[in-house]
Amino acid sequence: MIHPGKTIGVLGGGQLGRMFAHAAERLGYRVHVYEPEPNGPAGEVSATETNRAYTDIDALTAFARSVDVVTYEFENIPAEPLWKIENLVPLHPHSSVLEVCQNRMREKNWLRKNDFPHVPFAEVEATDDLAAAIRRVGLPCVVKTADFGYDGKGQVKVSDETSIATAVAAFAKQRCVIEKFIDFKCELSVLVARSSTGEVKVFPVAENIHTKHILDFSIVPARISDAVRSDAEKLGLAIAEKLNLVGLLAIELFLTDRGGILVNELAPRPHNSGHWTLDACVTSQFEQHVRAVCGLPLGDVSVVSPVVMVNILGDAWKWDNGYLADEPNWAAILAEPRAKLHLYGKKEPRIGRKMGHFTVTAATADAALEAARALKARL
Ligand code: AMP
Repeated sequence: MIHPGKTIGVLGGGQLGRMFAHAAERLGYRVHVYEPEPNGPAGEVSATETNRAYTDIDALTAFARSVDVVTYEFENIPAEPLWKIENLVPLHPHSSVLEVCQNRMREKNWLRKNDFPHVPFAEVEATDDLAAAIRRVGLPCVVKTADFGYDGKGQVKVSDETSIATAVAAFAKQRCVIEKFIDFKCELSVLVARSSTGEVKVFPVAENIHTKHILDFSIVPARISDAVRSDAEKLGLAIAEKLNLVGLLAIELFLTDRGGILVNELAPRPHNSGHWTLDACVTSQFEQHVRAVCGLPLGDVSVVSPVVMVNILGDAWKWDNGYLADEPNWAAILAEPRAKLHLYGKKEPRIGRKMGHFTVTAATADAALEAARALKARL
């Protein structure tokens, strides 16, 4: 067990690292953030920050030597330097988990090899004819680069001849996966924590609504049948066990028209769709992450109240001809007793950039969603 008072190293300095640092500090740990860019959301609230490249082995070695355990909030870290860290200090989740999750092709092959339900896909090598491969899979489909992308980056939906040309222009000569386009009923996510002692807990399933590929609303409890809920939870546990996870793992799922669930993506870290836990769960995902990587007993994951989380993007600022004109109407959220506002301290709002989020609790998930939509409209 890594006792309170020790230092946790975090690779990545974004908002997930910031909320992790808040939770760690509350339990009496010190946090050392390693992040290439200065002045990020996590460094600002942590005891120590190192701003060096992920490929700088000397700096990473010094970082690893200065902490008692290392975790990460960001997947796009080259796996090789992590092997060095792992020789010096425990790294959770292990680099083998990151390797599977940071590359779409590896991730999908891993799901297929281990018989987990996933979106059907075809692999395309850089030298293959992408247009021919798209036609073989059939339209509509989604072309995604093999290397990790997020929030819809590195992917394009292909539904006609024109969009085949768009996909070829964007992705020809890159390794890609082509997925069948899934006409899903809704998107779900399940978040699993597994501790170094082998203890596991699954947070209640969230129902997620995306807009332009970016998470817009997370609704808890998800409005699904008990059978689907139980399938999603069991799947989450099975994947965490198979990966030999220590830490947190988010699993994004599609619920199909026939009631089946398919894995879309795995993320071995806290997840945007788990932010609701800060305000409406006995234990937040960030505290659970601290507990899991330090080998502390895991916390209770009971829902305190139905809740909806809404992302606040840079789009919420008032823009005038591309120039920033005014702040969002924070007063609207602050005046609502059942709403909680979380801002990440990012200096520069940009369209599509995650700047913060808010949650609204209510007696039912539907009522929370209605209240959340009304507040979002007033922002
Ligand atoms: P990703 O970056 O792969 O998680 O994709 C972002 C979002 O794009 C997902 O949350 C879905 O809303 C949508 N999407 C991705 N892949 C597919 C697919 N095969 N079929 C339908 N929608 C998809």
